[in-house]
Amino acid sequence: MADEPGEKQQKLQSALQDYLGVRHIELVTNGHMALELALQAFGLHGQVITTPFTFLSTTLAILRSGLTPVFCDIDPETFNLDPTKVEALITPQTSAILAVHVYGTPCNVDAIQRLAAAHGLKVFYDAAHAFGVHLRGKGIGGYGDAACFSFHATKVFHTAEGGGICLPDADLAKRVAELRNFGIEDGSQQGTNAKMDELRAAMGLCNLRHIEEEISKRARAAARYRERLAGIEGIQLAPILTGVRPNFAYFPIVFHAHLFGASRDQIFDRLAACGIMARKYFYPLTSVLTKRSSRWETPVADAVSRNILCLPLYPDLSLNTVDKICNLILQSR
Ligand SMILES: *Cc1c(COP(=O)(O)O)cnc(C)c1O
Repeated sequence: MADEPGEKQQKLQSALQDYLGVRHIELVTNGHMALELALQAFGLHGQVITTPFTFLSTTLAILRSGLTPVFCDIDPETFNLDPTKVEALITPQTSAILAVHVYGTPCNVDAIQRLAAAHGLKVFYDAAHAFGVHLRGKGIGGYGDAACFSFHATKVFHTAEGGGICLPDADLAKRVAELRNFGIEDGSQQGTNAKMDELRAAMGLCNLRHIEEEISKRARAAARYRERLAGIEGIQLAPILTGVRPNFAYFPIVFHAHLFGASRDQIFDRLAACGIMARKYFYPLTSVLTKRSSRWETPVADAVSRNILCLPLYPDLSLNTVDKICNLILQSR
């Protein structure tokens, strides 16, 4: 239809292409539909190797597209899919890898690409946490056959609800645009209604004007957390990898209770009692959505999920509050 996409949506699309440094981004109603439409545009069959250490949406997108998730364990330092464990899970039914740039930390994209090329697999990234992240000077949305962003209100950049699919291929971008609008034009694929509306696109244009300032305010709070908590025995922080421009979306910390002297759950309760809402993110693992198979044992993801806590982090978080949170954590031992 001639009125799709609308004027604000087109403006936001081109502003995001510039900001994210990607060839094409197609805007949709939310990050979850971005994942579903990306998988569906490629007409995949069979199994998709993925991580259980993510939000439910990643696993649900696979299931709802008629595909079977196969869970691969994660790297204990980055919390991302561990490429050294992928090969053992590949079968003749495997058609793709769907990895997540967890907490905005880029996956090992080179190793994943090598595996995909060697086995003829497509590569998808759930980049819901990674808005504005760059790897080796290139926008994170430019890696893989498709990368999906969420613009939900809880994310670094938002349109209240919204999402975007980045694709290097113009024909596939067109197919995604077709799928989000019922497949009305060519009718060759059953589409859905996943359009972004003009109100949200307008909100996105406003929010995008402030994104650099928002990220630098997040960086300030994150630096204070790091200063206070780095090097403390039993506390593990997420790495800042070389060649990465981070977005400071989250401040996850893993408590090794036997070394720190208090468990994740004890710290969560202590903070909650003082009115501070940290999040057990991601707990439980998304593999609970499927029947567990012994082939999918993921001991690293299980352990991280039981011991990780995301501390409050948002642009207007004051350094005083960061200090108060750190004091509570350090006094919990
Ligand atoms: C937020 C999120 C999604 C889903 O995005 P919505 O815009 O809420 O639909 C998917 N995957 C991850 C990892 C997320 O954090």
